[in-house]
Amino acid sequence: VKLNTNENPYPPSPRVMEAVRAVPPHALQRYPQPMADAFRAAASRVLGVPQDAILAGNGSDDILTIATRTFLDPGGTLAYPEPTYSLYPVLARLQDARVVTVPWGSGWSLPIDALVATGARAIYLANPNAPTGTRVPASAVEALARAFDGVLLVDEAYVDFADENCLDLALRLPNVVISRTMSKSYSLAGVRFGFSVARPELVREMAKVKDSYNCDALSIAAAAAAISDQDYARSTWSKIRAERSRLTSALEARGWSVLPSQANFVFATVPGHRARTVHSALKAAGVLVRYFDVPGIDDKLRITVGTPEDTDALVAALSTIP
Ligand code: PMP
Repeated sequence: VKLNTNENPYPPSPRVMEAVRAVPPHALQRYPQPMADAFRAAASRVLGVPQDAILAGNGSDDILTIATRTFLDPGGTLAYPEPTYSLYPVLARLQDARVVTVPWGSGWSLPIDALVATGARAIYLANPNAPTGTRVPASAVEALARAFDGVLLVDEAYVDFADENCLDLALRLPNVVISRTMSKSYSLAGVRFGFSVARPELVREMAKVKDSYNCDALSIAAAAAAISDQDYARSTWSKIRAERSRLTSALEARGWSVLPSQANFVFATVPGHRARTVHSALKAAGVLVRYFDVPGIDDKLRITVGTPEDTDALVAALSTIP
């Protein structure tokens, strides 16, 4: 029972497999279209954004790498609220940039003034955040973007499981870049496909930095088919949201406290500082969840929302742990 890396527990749309099978041999023989235009056209239709406002990447980690190389010079500063996605400092260090972290505000609110006061060139904001699953309102994100003269990257890896997104900010404001992934809400973590949405002038700069052929012919076909089948994807999102409530109640019934999640995982405090022990015991029982050996969050576990059967297996395993 694999609840440790926030994958979608349901398979991708059947149309994805059809699209992959339909890829003709010459598409493998030749280099792929460099900007993944077949995907951009599909995403443009579905999201209602211009095609030249979209940049495709080899997973959203590739988008984050491209953004870091585009917007941060050596010696420049990246700021973000902490805790958050652990890749951000790694990318900044590879770019010889400085990292300044700011604690989240009370109730996991956006520390706007503290972020702006860092004097950073770029701010990264995972929204919903990982590993907390919490979300700040789009109005707060907009206030931050307006108060900040660098680039604000909003990492919306989990946004399809949330009540609100910031997509329109990327078109309305000149300094907002949205990053999205096909890994979670479209069940394609194995394919490696992500994308960003930003004003075309920013997309053009990011396109200069990316590898020439960062997305391959098979992944472009798969991702275009997946985003085009909104009915299918949305059916998995609503099952996951319903299961998120059931999982939350099941954990709360055991005395755990669970942060209100807007993502496809929950972040829960294990009573009695037993997170590490419970993590190992679950692993021994064949249930994988995520434990962070990091001060401040080492009393918590991050658990991906799976199928109802996954939740039942987790709860059954928990009842065997003394
Ligand atoms: N952003 C966040 C906040 C994530 O948790 C992840 C998943 N590890 C990613 C981006 C990257 O996802 P992918 O590269 O699969 O698109």
